[in-house]
Amino acid sequence: MQNIQFENYTYGTKKFKRPITCPHCKISTASTVIEVNEIKSTEKYLNIIYECTSCHKEYYVCYMESAVSLIFDVLGIFPHPIFSERIFPETIHNISPNFPSLYNQAYFAEEHQKFDIAAMGYRKALEVLIKDFAINSLNKPQSEVLKKTLANSISEYLDGFDTFVAAECIRILGNDYTHYELRYTDVDFSYIRKYLDFFITRIEMQAITSSHPLVPVREYSQSESE
Ligand SMILES: [Zn+2]
Repeated sequence: MQNIQFENYTYGTKKFKRPITCPHCKISTASTVIEVNEIKSTEKYLNIIYECTSCHKEYYVCYMESAVSLIFDVLGIFPHPIFSERIFPETIHNISPNFPSLYNQAYFAEEHQKFDIAAMGYRKALEVLIKDFAINSLNKPQSEVLKKTLANSISEYLDGFDTFVAAECIRILGNDYTHYELRYTDVDFSYIRKYLDFFITRIEMQAITSSHPLVPVREYSQSESE
């Protein structure tokens, strides 16, 4: 669901995930519960009407009782938040023309809670970005780059421990979603995209600083860095 964040919330005897982002104005808000309707059939459902404390518009969230916890799960929001693609800077488009589309395909899947597809998509987007970065920014031969595994590409073409860690986490978590059984079940899915967003910023800066400083700079010396 498009950038809609939730928090666990208790209302009377019910526990459910309350939106902390309004689907109308997209502002983070502790929405007010206006009405709770419980529907009992073979399963338990809740329909809750909220009012945004920022734009004061109402919206509806439908829930179903979870099979594994006491907290009702979100089935849908009305009005449904409109998906908007992530826009990338020109530097990223120049490094990897295919990356923005791959990222947004995965992002769309995540927004529609198709997490297996999204994880594999983010992993592929990462691999394409690193390999295009090696070819187009580091001028490595395409024939050499395309033969490398993602793990080897991460080891060889990236600068800095933080960048390495971010790429490794996306690779490992992305791989995890291709397996029959998830290993890292306690890791919140949103961290894959958070790591990727951090990684994109680092790649952009690495590309900018490694190609041509915008102004003449002194020769780099660690002892002078203070
Ligand atoms: Zn609002």
